[in-house]
Amino acid sequence: MSDELPFRILPELTDRNRHFWTGGEHGELRFLQCDDCVYLIHPPVPICPRCHSKAQHAEVVSGRATLHTYTVNHQPWMPGPGLPYVVAIVEIPEQAGLRLTTNIVNCPIAEIEIGMGMQVTFEHHDDVWIPLFEPERS
Ligand SMILES: [Zn+2]
Repeated sequence: MSDELPFRILPELTDRNRHFWTGGEHGELRFLQCDDCVYLIHPPVPICPRCHSKAQHAEVVSGRATLHTYTVNHQPWMPGPGLPYVVAIVEIPEQAGLRLTTNIVNCPIAEIEIGMGMQVTFEHHDDVWIPLFEPERS
C-alpha cells in the first residue's frame, strides 16, 4: 500500500454493513451469513434471499478470490484512484456466485488474467477499511 491514499467516496456505516467495511481492521473479509441455511448474503439485505430467514451473523471468509472479470478505467469520471485503475468483479470461493465489485491493486495491468487467484488487502480511510484485491501470493 502506498503512503498516499487515493480519494475515495466512503460508505456510510450502518448496523447492517459495518461488519463488511470494518473487518479490515482485523484483516478479515466478512459477509453476512444466514443462521438457518448458511447462505452468504451480499450485498447485505435483512432477509435471506434463499430461505427468507431473518437470522444472520457476520462470518469471516478466507479472503481468497478468483478474478471473474475486469475493466481498466482510463477516464477521470469522478475523483478516485489514480489513473489508470482496474475495476474488477471477483468471485469468493466459499460460495458459488458470491461476487464482489472491487479494485485490483499491487499488480501490473499487463499481468492481470481472468481466473487468476487473488487475495484481499485493505485500504484504510477513517472508520472504513475498503476491501481490494491483489494477486495471491504463493
Ligand atoms: Zn437462509
